[in-house]
Amino acid sequence: MRVEFTIIFSLLILILTVCTISSMHSKKIIGKSVAFLVCTLIPPVIGNLIIICSTDRFPSMVGYYIYFLGMDAVMYALIRFTLRYCRITKPNKIVKYTIDVLLIIDVIQYAFNPVFGHAFETEPIMFENNLYFRLIPKLGQTYHRIVDYGLFAFVLFIFLLKTIRSIKIYVERYLVMLVALLIAGIWESFYIFSGTPIDRSMIGLAVFGILTYFFALYYRPLKLLDRMLAGMASELPEALYFFDSNGLCIWANSKGTELAGITNDDYTRAESKLKEMFGEFDLKKAEWSTEKRLGTDAGTTKYYLLEKHTIPYSERRIVGSFLSIRDNTEDQLALQKEKYNATHDALTGLYTKEHLYDRIAEEIQKDNGTNYAVVYANVNNFKMINDIFGSSFGDRVLIEIAQKIRANMTEGCIYGRIVGDIFGMFMPVDEFDDAALEKALGHFTVEDRHLSHTVLIHMGVYFIPDRSIEVSVMFDRARIAVSDIKNDYQIFMAYYDDKMREQVLWDQHISSQVGEAIATKQITPYLQPIVDSSGKPIGAEALSRWTHPTDGFLSPAKFIPVIERNGMIAEVDRYMWKCACEILAKWKKQGREQFISVNISPKDFYFMDVVSVIKNLVEKYEIEPSKLRIEITETVMMDDPENKIAIINEFKKSGFVVEMDDFGSGYSSLNMLQDMPVDVIKIDMGFLNKSELDERGQTILHNILNMTRDIGITSLTEGVETAEQYSMLLSMGCRLFQGYHFAKPMPLNELEEWLDRV
Ligand code: C2E
Ligand code: CA
Ligand code: CA
Repeated sequence: MRVEFTIIFSLLILILTVCTISSMHSKKIIGKSVAFLVCTLIPPVIGNLIIICSTDRFPSMVGYYIYFLGMDAVMYALIRFTLRYCRITKPNKIVKYTIDVLLIIDVIQYAFNPVFGHAFETEPIMFENNLYFRLIPKLGQTYHRIVDYGLFAFVLFIFLLKTIRSIKIYVERYLVMLVALLIAGIWESFYIFSGTPIDRSMIGLAVFGILTYFFALYYRPLKLLDRMLAGMASELPEALYFFDSNGLCIWANSKGTELAGITNDDYTRAESKLKEMFGEFDLKKAEWSTEKRLGTDAGTTKYYLLEKHTIPYSERRIVGSFLSIRDNTEDQLALQKEKYNATHDALTGLYTKEHLYDRIAEEIQKDNGTNYAVVYANVNNFKMINDIFGSSFGDRVLIEIAQKIRANMTEGCIYGRIVGDIFGMFMPVDEFDDAALEKALGHFTVEDRHLSHTVLIHMGVYFIPDRSIEVSVMFDRARIAVSDIKNDYQIFMAYYDDKMREQVLWDQHISSQVGEAIATKQITPYLQPIVDSSGKPIGAEALSRWTHPTDGFLSPAKFIPVIERNGMIAEVDRYMWKCACEILAKWKKQGREQFISVNISPKDFYFMDVVSVIKNLVEKYEIEPSKLRIEITETVMMDDPENKIAIINEFKKSGFVVEMDDFGSGYSSLNMLQDMPVDVIKIDMGFLNKSELDERGQTILHNILNMTRDIGITSLTEGVETAEQYSMLLSMGCRLFQGYHFAKPMPLNELEEWLDRV
């Protein structure tokens, strides 16, 4: 008996010591309180051990002292642990102090027991032929029991309250402690009150310490957690399937059973059912995710995201794995719509420029020996359609064009809307049918309610010779071809050729050098004499010539149209006017009587106030305004005539002579002459058949000359090349003449010599 208990108590001391050390190292907040409680349990157990081993009164007394005082310490630690465990952060101060005082009194009264003997005594007894010392409790001992049992009951009460009052998930947490306390209490009481000769009550308390250690630090209410996790998993929008470490499905949430059509919780069939739906997948592979599409019809297609995860147990073992399947249809459709919007034009549904270019670049990368062509299609006068019929009609037009393009493109074609009213198409040369395209797109009538309009589309075609050319450049070239169509109402399609490319390059080459050419006097005025009916030179026209450092002598036809297109002509003209004024100033000093006429380009009016620029020049060079004649072409005058009439009048008011240049080359009516307050008209011989002026031409010329005389306008014929022409014009009553028959345009010094000669 003595030996067995010695072993049991020693073992308990060892276990409690281990628990103390272990809980001291715990990372949990409760760890320290657990360590304190378990550690305080060690002395009473030692006390119990001493009591059981004592064969003498004195050691047994010492054992009892250690036991009882140790129990006070246990109570103190138990209260502290309980407050922590039950998360009572602000305990009632009075209660706390009362407990402390009761325990201190108990310690003090035990201290006086050796003197008064009021607490307890021991007496020897024989039990199973062994000598033991039994406790004889007295008044002090009763006080001790009341205090300790009171505190113990108090703690029990707290845990009971917590168990009843707590929310469900915490009930188990308190319940386990309540059970542990009850076990310890009953065990303890049984030994104390059963009057057994040997006190073994500390076994109960030590077991309580060990249980506390386990419950407080390691126990997790698993069942509860299971239920919570399962509940949560059922709420998730994904279908979930859990597999054990052998890959057998052990559970699926409600979405999961629904998706796989599992009935009666027969989860084992999940895998085969899912494979039937989604095709093969590998459950043995640890982690993967994949997207699956079910169905092909636009309305009913569904998208799913399958993700497989493994739950590790230790480094080498796994608990199991789970598969989650999410219905991704909505996201996928939104994504597809977003992609579509980014790559398709909202109005016509065709590709946007960027996507069109990307797709073409992609196609061209495939080196499959196919030759391709691009077509650039531009609506003629689309701005006018919008302005006159309104933008909704304009939209209608664009939509119809898109429909026509779609209807005419074969499978290998890529097409889109480049911008505004411009569309682009790309196709293998074999599939390029110019006649069909011209027929479908060249011209057609668009009707929208009561509105109707014939739309013309100009198409430029570029056959791609080299796949390394950028797509934008291909369409640039096709566009250049379009610009060749101009205003021909019969032609809808033009092909890019290298001449066009040269023209573009030439344009760029020339435009970039104009400024420098003026500054370095590469551009100079040539002068062509103008004579009267007696052949006397009365003036000259200033015509520009460019002596280019590398391209040589350039006639105006080579560069004037180029710089007229981009507006740089204004620079050249301003310079030419200045040169003319310089010459006139010089002539004034030399006593020459001749005038100089200068050309004014239609673009000049956009870039400057022509009248004031020229007025300033004549003022600056102090010359007679009548000596500087102003040539404005007939076509310029026809464009916004009222404004031009005002300009001409302003010139005339300041004393300039204004000439209408190139009369007859445009579409002007003779009536216009009456309204235009010009002084001179220059009749362009070019509009008549020059080689042999037939009867018809002669009649026209005659009439023009007659009419100008009648309305008091001087006539000048330019381009007179032969003596016959000259005499004929003289007989018809023409007053002034210009042409190779008299002299070609020439540099100033040559002209001056020429003037001196004749
Ligand atoms: P334009 O103003 O009608 O000038 C008359 C053109 O006819 C000149 O051509 C002249 O050389 C040419 N010409 C004169 N007599 C005859 C002839 O008997 N037979 C033929 N076949 N041609 C003759 P050019 O100098 O080549 O100039 C061409 C056009 O370039 C000019 O036509 C004018 O519109 C424009 N131009 C020339 N220089 C300037 C300039 O400095 N400023 C502006 N804005 N335009 C200019
Ligand atoms: Ca002229
Ligand atoms: Ca002319």
